Amino acid sequence: MSQKQNYGSDPTAVRQSDQYQQEYIEQFVEKWDALIDWDKRGEGEGNFFIDVLRQCGAKKVLDVAAGTGYHSVRLLEAGFDVVSADGSPEMLYRAFENAKARNQILRTVQADWRWLGKDIHEKFDAVICLGNSFTHLFSENDRRKALAEFYSVLNHDGILILDQRNYDSILDYGYSNKEKYYYCGDEVQAEPEYIDEGLARFRYQFEGGAESYYLNMFPLRQEYTSKLMKEVGFQRVDTYGDFQETYRRKDPDFFIHMAEKK
Ligand code: SAM
Repeated sequence: MSQKQNYGSDPTAVRQSDQYQQEYIEQFVEKWDALIDWDKRGEGEGNFFIDVLRQCGAKKVLDVAAGTGYHSVRLLEAGFDVVSADGSPEMLYRAFENAKARNQILRTVQADWRWLGKDIHEKFDAVICLGNSFTHLFSENDRRKALAEFYSVLNHDGILILDQRNYDSILDYGYSNKEKYYYCGDEVQAEPEYIDEGLARFRYQFEGGAESYYLNMFPLRQEYTSKLMKEVGFQRVDTYGDFQETYRRKDPDFFIHMAEKK
């Protein structure tokens, strides 16, 4: 694994779903928790996901974008049976260590969403894909494939909870830095360096660090994501804005889609 992020000579031309493997290098992953700040994130989202999962009667949860383990650990602590998957070994290692430090043992599986069924052989009541992760897929085919895999590991009445940044607002009105709910750390600045309809390239600068890190992401429009979910077979998709049922489209930082299989 390269110890430097590699975007070649034209970073804005890098629009591939496999790029995440080179983006989450060890040094960036080590700093990820400063970016998301577990305590402040907990204050922002409260028990939102725990409550939703309990209301659905979910017991077994697959966290497909475990990252450094924030939601997996919270759900384990709340008594859910959790499997933590991610395509990045660096992220899974960090997640395991974070959980251990909180006296939890994570069941980790390295798996790419597009071929989830190759590595995951159980069914779940819920799949969660949180922290603006789905944005890493650059082709519609990959998005459909991943959603179909999420659908297929769910029990017949299962639910997919998937969130995304409010890219509609960024694309239509420009970026405003509120970041109350997700990227809560004080020691980091996260800002878009380049935006068009096919790419949102964000720069992450950490206090005292000379190096900047980047993520190239696909700017998902909210209605497009809901539509795709319905097209792969989810019967009902409800979308929340910053954990609220009603919102003005421009306002929220994040949208959370709840897609029901039944
Ligand atoms: N959910 C975590 C959080 O909220 O902090 C992590 C979010 S991070 C923005 C996105 C995660 O998605 C990374 O851990 C990355 O490795 C994972 N990821 C991106 N594309 C993936 C893919 N195709 N298959 C599996 N994991 C993927």
